Formats: sequence, C-alpha cells, structure tokens
Amino acid sequence: MNGEDLKKAARVIKDSQNIVVFTGAGASTESGIADFRSEGGLWSKYDPSVYANYYYFIQDPAPFWKMHRELEDVLEKAKPNPVHHAIAELEKMGKVKAIITQNIDMLHQKAGSGSYKGIPIYELHGTYGLLHCIRCGREYKLEEIDTRNVEYPICECSGFIKPKVVLFGESLPSHVMDEAMKACCEADCFLMVGSSLVVSPANLLPSLAKQQGAKLIFINKEETFMDDIADVVLRGKAGEIFTKLMALIKAT
Ligand code: NAD
Repeated sequence: MNGEDLKKAARVIKDSQNIVVFTGAGASTESGIADFRSEGGLWSKYDPSVYANYYYFIQDPAPFWKMHRELEDVLEKAKPNPVHHAIAELEKMGKVKAIITQNIDMLHQKAGSGSYKGIPIYELHGTYGLLHCIRCGREYKLEEIDTRNVEYPICECSGFIKPKVVLFGESLPSHVMDEAMKACCEADCFLMVGSSLVVSPANLLPSLAKQQGAKLIFINKEETFMDDIADVVLRGKAGEIFTKLMALIKAT
C-alpha cells in the first residue's frame, strides 16, 4: 500500500459528511471468521454453494444445520476487530451515515455501530441471530430454540426453521436493498471494505454510488474487477490499513 494513496483516502474521508460503508466477509477475517473465497477455514470443509443453498435446505435441512452449528460457534466467539471499531468511530465523528453489510456476523453491532448516532445497518444477507419457520413465517431468536440437540429444528407447525440469512438461491429482502440503494444515492463517499464484489446484486452498489457523485474508496487484500472505478484503492489487510488511516485522519 502506497503512502500517497493512504493520505488521499484520509483526505476524502475528512472532506466527506455522508459516508456509506459497505462491508464484505474480508472485514471480519481478522476476527477469525473465514471468508468464502480465501483458503482454509470452515468453507474448505463445507462448500457454501451446497451447504448454504436453499434448494438443498428445503429437501433436507440436516446438512445445513450441521454446518451452521459449527458456524454459530465461530460467530458466538468472534469479537470486532480494528475495522469494525474504526467504522464505529467514524460514526461517532458524524461521518458515517449508513452501513451496508453482506455479513451475517453482527460484528458492526458488537462494535457499537448503530448506537452512537442511530445510523441504519442494512444487512443485505440477513443475520444469524434471528430465525424463522419457512412454512408459517413464525420468528424466533437464536436463544429461544434448541439447535444443538436436534438434527434440525422444527416449528410447532412442522415447518423447517432456518436462520434469517440469505442462502444461495434466495432473493435479498427487497426493502433492505431499496434502502441501501437510496443511501448510496445520497452518499458523498462509498467506503468498501473486504469484498470480492462478485456477489450480485450487492455488487451493483459501488457503481450506483459513483454515478450519483460519491467518491469510491476500496480497501481489500486482493484486486477486484471493479478497482478501476475506485478513486482510491488500498490493498492489504483492512485492520492494519484502518489503524493507519484513523491515525492520519486524527492527526490532520
Ligand atoms: P468474499 O469471500 O467473496 O470476498 C472477501 C474479500 O475480502 C476477498 O477479496 C479477500 O481478498 C478480502 N479479504 C479477506 N481478508 C481480508 C482482510 N483481512 N483485509 C482486507 N481484505 C480481505 O466475500 P463477500 O464479497 O462478502 O461475498 C461472499 C458472501 O459471503 C457474502 O454474501 C457474505 O454474506 C458471506 N459471508 C459472510 C461472512 C460473515 O458474515 N463474516 C463470512 C463468510 C461469508
């Protein structure tokens, strides 16, 4: 990562009053939650396109729940890392006006985001903490049902219970996507952290924000196919980048 780019990103953030932060799985890898595409972790054992696939879930939820119980253990223990804390700090400073996340791990909330200035957190792919019956729609909190001592949990109506996360083959909750798009249209800066930008329709948001005049900052370990539309690309580990970025923002 080049020092000039870091200074440029700090300047864009300082000059912005309406930042929309967009996070992907890479924002949480430094909290011990593996992303889908990098080597190792849970997803080397469970192919998400099979285990997290709605089509397979409705035929037999047991494989999904086998994988999900292991994921729950990881998510329960995970703590916010410098990325989530820096974003929460930018919210406290009044800079961040919305967070759009593809993650289901609730680490933004654990870092305090949403509670300082009451900004919205749009969870495009849902959250692991809420569940529902896919037959009658009844909602459950994770602590209300036993997911450990059964092959898979079942509702009183005999329907399968599923976390309110968007599986492969399901569409996004349309109102959440609509609100996220609106936030992008109003943003003066779109700050992307830790996404390969290959999952659609979430990956339409950077270009939407750009078309409406936002400056684009991308922070990611690897190149993305949208890097050429970004105003600044910072390549490396997001936690380290945010630590340097926040120091620069506070110093100038
Ligand atoms: P992805 O796995 O496709 O891409 C992650 C990107 O983050 C990669 O380009 C990788 O290079 C980068 N990355 C990894 N570690 C990084 C780090 N420390 N610093 C900076 N960049 C880093 O993730 P995606 O784009 O979010 O899409 C995959 C889907 O995976 C999403 O739909 C999401 O719901 C789901 N998912 C969520 C979690 C979670 O909730 N934490 C974990 C795994 C997958």
